[in-house]
Amino acid sequence: MSASNALHIAVLGGDGIGPEVMAPALEVLRKIEATSDLKFRFTDAPAGANNYLATGKSMPDSTVRLCEEADAILLGACGLPSVRYPDNTEVAPQIELRFHFDLYAGVRPARLVPGVPSPIVGADQRGIDLVLIRESTEGLFASMGKGVVTDTEARETLVITRKTSERLFEFSFRLAERRKARGKANGGLTCVDKANVFRAFAFFREMFDEAAKRHPDVKADRLYVDACSLMLVKRPWDFDVMVTENMFGDILSDLAAGLIGGLGMAPSADIGDRYAVFQPCHGTAPDIMGQGKANPTAMILSAAMMLDWLADKHGLESAAEAGERIERAVDKAYAGGIKPMEFGGSNGTADIARAVLAAL
Ligand code: ATP
Repeated sequence: MSASNALHIAVLGGDGIGPEVMAPALEVLRKIEATSDLKFRFTDAPAGANNYLATGKSMPDSTVRLCEEADAILLGACGLPSVRYPDNTEVAPQIELRFHFDLYAGVRPARLVPGVPSPIVGADQRGIDLVLIRESTEGLFASMGKGVVTDTEARETLVITRKTSERLFEFSFRLAERRKARGKANGGLTCVDKANVFRAFAFFREMFDEAAKRHPDVKADRLYVDACSLMLVKRPWDFDVMVTENMFGDILSDLAAGLIGGLGMAPSADIGDRYAVFQPCHGTAPDIMGQGKANPTAMILSAAMMLDWLADKHGLESAAEAGERIERAVDKAYAGGIKPMEFGGSNGTADIARAVLAAL
């Protein structure tokens, strides 16, 4: 924090609907500022496919420096399917930031906001409130840009390290304990892997078991990723916190977003020991960009997660309260009948933003 005690936030709107959902999230934070003792300083910075088109880089060095100096990083969404590196992969500064800042814990909460339709029968009665933690710096993604492709075969290598896994499991057990202490859940943590087939995942599970011994208050479970996918669809209310490898987490987090209404409802955070990036689970949604249809809820809830993280990091009670206020305002907006176009309703970005601001 700076001398003025304002929390300095790096704001990377990005491409497509990124800037469209960022604007309402910033309005919500300004309203928090006006109604609490918190102060923010927002600094905008370029990143993404449009920046690549203009400069040949996914983001300028000045953006990385800003992110290093800021207290937290808010990101909209980056990348466009039509804009690619010479090796045909998409421009993805959000993934580069995960590696640069060693943001190993990808936190993906999936909470069904009351009033939002879930495709799962019974979810409206039983509720869904789980958090998926996706390791975000290694696993199969460690091979990003390093895959070897010949005329006859292609190879990508999955990496699991002790250093990252131990930090990941400590983070996950601690989150399960915090949720239990807040009365949010029963204090369970499930390790999701494929330990029955791959040695790398047996190693992953072994380290999970070691961590579990250090956290006897948390009910530790283990599941294979295929069985887990089935259970997530049949009984999502049985899950509390889950932890998994990068690629499995990539897939399961979209599945979890589907359980709670859609990508526009799913916030996320990429957290390391020192830095953190907060962004919605969704991408740039080129199919709806520029039409005022994007659901900003995931971005707004990501801003709430940022406040909770800042509260924990700096011991700022009022930031934790502000994060909870934003969650309650979202609930109130949906209880009041907001229905995003994303799931067949008539409310676009501006309506949803207005409803959440009014509820605050
Ligand atoms: P990425 O690979 O960058 O995560 P993606 O291929 O998963 O992106 P998205 O850009 O997230 O794709 O979009 C997937 C679908 O979800 C699209 O049909 C898009 O319109 C829809 N979608 C994503 N985010 C939102 C949102 N905030 N509001 C409404 N619809 C959304």
